[in-house]
Amino acid sequence: MTKFERGPSDTPIAMVTGGAGFLGSAVCDRLVRDGMHVVCVDNFVTGRRSNVAHLLASPLFTLAKADISVSLPQIDVTEIWNFACPASPATYQIDPVHTMLTNVIGMKNCLDLAYDTGARVFQASTSEVYGDPEVHPQIESYRGKVNPIGPRACYDEGKRAAETLCYDYRRAYGTDVRVARIFNTYGPRMDPQDGRVVSNFIVQALRGDPLEIYGDGSQTRSFCFVDDLVEGFFRIMRAPVAQQGPVNLGNPSEFTMSDLAELVIGMTRTSSTLLYKPLPVDDPKRRRPDISLAQSELGWNPQISLREGLGSTIAYFNAELRLPPVTEECRS
Ligand code: NAD
Ligand code: UDP
Repeated sequence: MTKFERGPSDTPIAMVTGGAGFLGSAVCDRLVRDGMHVVCVDNFVTGRRSNVAHLLASPLFTLAKADISVSLPQIDVTEIWNFACPASPATYQIDPVHTMLTNVIGMKNCLDLAYDTGARVFQASTSEVYGDPEVHPQIESYRGKVNPIGPRACYDEGKRAAETLCYDYRRAYGTDVRVARIFNTYGPRMDPQDGRVVSNFIVQALRGDPLEIYGDGSQTRSFCFVDDLVEGFFRIMRAPVAQQGPVNLGNPSEFTMSDLAELVIGMTRTSSTLLYKPLPVDDPKRRRPDISLAQSELGWNPQISLREGLGSTIAYFNAELRLPPVTEECRS
C-alpha cells in the first residue's frame, strides 16, 4: 500500500467526513475514546472547529480541510464514516448543486477509497429518502415519494443516489457498506444558526423572540437525541455482518411542531409568542420511523425522551449564546 500515507503508528485509522459537524464530531469522540486514530475531513461549510477543538491535542486525532466532492486524503483506512453534507434545509439549499455533488461525487470518492483499502463504509443517509411519505410510519421497504425537481431534491435525491452507489459497489466489488437512514436528531453541538426546528425554537425562546412556526404547526416529526443515535451508528458499524439494506434510526415518538413549540416555551420559561410563517415547498407532512429492524437485529432502542433531551440541549444553547457570535473567519 505504498500509495497511501501511513498513520502515526499501527493504530487502525477511521476517516470521518463531516467530522466537524454536529453528528460527525460525536462519532469522532467515540472513535478516539475506543482507541482508533481518527482523520476528520471537513470543508467547514456548516461544521465548526469548536466541535472538535478538544480532540486536537490527542495523538489519535488529525483534522484535514478538504471538500469530499473534490477529493479525499489517500490514507490507508480501515473505516470510512461519511457524514459530509449540510443537513438543514436552510443550509443545503444555499448551494444546491454543491449539495448534490457532495452527496454523489463525495460518496463515490469514499467508495473508491474503500475499494483501494478494503475499508468498511458507513453512510449517513436520511429519512428524507421517503420524501413526503404516503406510508406511515416509514419502514425501510417503503420506496418513498420524493419530488425529483423541487428545492429539497438536491438533498433527498442526492442521498438516494448515494445509497444506490453504496449497493452498486457492494454488488460489483463486495464493498462492506452500512447505511443508516437517520430521522430528525438534535442535541448539543448543533449550530445555533443551523436553521433546523429544534435549534431555531430553542434559540428564539432563549432570546425571548417569537417562535417561528412554518405552516399551521400540524406537521409532525419524531426527534431522536444524539447519544441514542450514535449508539445506533456503532451497532450498525460494529455488527459482524452488514444488514441487507439500510436501517432506520430514530425515536418513534411523534410530535407536531405546535407540540414542540409548546414544550420549548414551557421548559425555557420564556415569554416568547408564536409567529406563523409560510410552509416551505415540499415540506413533509408526517414523519415517524418504523424501527423494528434496528430493534430486532441490533437490539437498539432509543432511551432518551424528548423532554430529557431538550433539557440538555437547552442548557447547551444557553451556554453557547453567551459566547461572542461565530464569525465566518473562526469557522475554518
Ligand atoms: P452538520 O451540518 O452539522 O454536519 C455536516 C458536516 O459536513 C459539517 O461539518 C460540514 O462542514 C461538512 N461538509 C458538508 N459538505 C462537505 C463537503 N463537500 N466536504 C467536506 N465536508 C463537508 O449536519 P449533521 O446534522 O451533523 O449531519 C451529518 C450527516 O448526517 C449529514 O450527511 C446529514 O445528511 C445526515 N443526517 C443528519 C440528520 C440529523 O437530524 N442531524 C438526519 C438525517 C441525516
Ligand atoms: N420548521 C418550523 N420552524 C423553523 C424550522 C422548521 O416550523 O424555524 C418546521 C419545518 O417546516 C418542518 C419541521 O419544522 O416541518 C422540521 O424542520 P427541520 O428543518 O428541522 O427538518 P426537516 O424538514 O428536514 O425534517
